[in-house]
Amino acid sequence: MTQKVIQPYQNLLINEYSNLLEKKNLISGYPENQKFSYKELNKFFKLSINNVGDSFQDSNYPLNTLKYEAEVVKYFSELYNKKNDYWGYITSGGTEGNLFAIHLARTKFQNGIVLFSSHSHYSIMKAVAVTRSQFSIISAQENGEIDYLDFEKNITKFKKIPIIVVLNIGTTITGAIDKLEIIKNILQKHKIKKYYIHCDAALHGFILPFCENHLNIALDKIDSLSISGHKFIGSPIPCGIFLTHLELKKRIEKSIDYLRASDTTLLGSREGISSLILWVAIQQKSKDDFRKLVKNCLKLAEYAVRKMLKIGIHAWVNKFSPIVVFPRPNDSLIKKWSIAPYKNIAHIITLPHMTKKNIDKIITDMQIDMKKRIVSKKIIVR
Ligand SMILES: *Cc1c(COP(=O)(O)O)cnc(C)c1O
Repeated sequence: MTQKVIQPYQNLLINEYSNLLEKKNLISGYPENQKFSYKELNKFFKLSINNVGDSFQDSNYPLNTLKYEAEVVKYFSELYNKKNDYWGYITSGGTEGNLFAIHLARTKFQNGIVLFSSHSHYSIMKAVAVTRSQFSIISAQENGEIDYLDFEKNITKFKKIPIIVVLNIGTTITGAIDKLEIIKNILQKHKIKKYYIHCDAALHGFILPFCENHLNIALDKIDSLSISGHKFIGSPIPCGIFLTHLELKKRIEKSIDYLRASDTTLLGSREGISSLILWVAIQQKSKDDFRKLVKNCLKLAEYAVRKMLKIGIHAWVNKFSPIVVFPRPNDSLIKKWSIAPYKNIAHIITLPHMTKKNIDKIITDMQIDMKKRIVSKKIIVR
C-alpha cells in the first residue's frame, strides 16, 4: 500500500486553517459577513480565469466569466432602479470602485473639486491623492452624517468650479447615511449645473434596497455607486460592484486590438471567480429572502442596543444600519471580539453570521469589565 506523504508545508496549512476557523466566530466589529457557502465553485480554482477587458464584451481570452459578471451588474443596477443604459463591473472591492468613480468624475470635469465628509472612508482620501484632485473635507454631525450647512458653505465658496460629491451611504464607523435629496436640493438652490455625485455604499449598499421605506437612491439620480461584495453578502475573496451610466463609461473607453475588446476598467487582468461568487449569492436567495435577512440583522442590532442600555452602556444605531455604536471598551475586549474602535467609541456589526448568543456573551464580558473598572476606581479613591 502506498501512503500519501504529507509535506511539512501541507501540515502548516492544515494547522493554519484550524487556527483561522477558530477566530471566525469571534469577529464582531468588522463588516465581513462570515456566513456563506460557495462549495460548488471550488473546482473553478483549477482554471486560470481572467475577465480582462470590458464586463459587457466578450474578449479573445476564452477562460472568462464575463457573462456572469454582466448578469451580476444587471441585478445590482435593477436594485437601484435602472434597467437600461447602465454600466458597471466587478471590482476588487469598495476601494477600487471609489477610485474609479473619482477617475470617471475627473474625466468629465477635469478641474472638479472633490467634497466628502470627515467620516468618509480613508479610501476616498487615497482616491483623491492618486488622481491628484483638489478636495475639501466637510464636517460631520454627531451621528456621522455629513453637516449639510458646512456642505452649503463649501458650495458657495467654490462657485464656478465643478463639484464632485462623495456621499456616504453608510459611514464605516457609525453607519450614517448622507441624504441625497438634501444634497441635491442644495446644489439646485445654488444653481450648480456641473456636478458629479458618487455614492460610497460599501456595506449598506446591499442593505438599503431591502429595507422598508428606504431612502430612494436610484442610479438615475446619481452618477455612480460602489458596493463591497465581501461585506454584507460575504465572500472568500474581497470583491465589489461598481455601477454607473453607459454614457460615462464611453468617455474612457479605449479599443484594444490585442484583446479584441475594449479597456474600460481600472485594472487590466481581472479576477473572475468573484463574478461567479456574487452570481451564486444572488441565485441562492430571492429578493424576499434578502429582505428577511436584512430585517433580521437590523432587529438584532436593536436587540444589542436594548440589552446594552439595560446595563447602562450608552449604545445606539443609525437608521437602516446594523452598526451598533457604544463607548470604547478596554483593549482585551476589543481584541477578543475583534471589536472595531475609533477614538472614544467602538462598534459591533450585526451581520448575518452574528447570533443573539454571541451578542449576549459580548455584553456579559462588557458587564464584567465595567464592574472591574468600578472596583479599581474605588481603590484609587481610598
Ligand atoms: C469598507 C469600506 C470601504 C472600502 O471597501 P473595501 O471593499 O474594503 O475596499 C469604502 N467605504 C466605506 C464606507 C467602507 O465601509
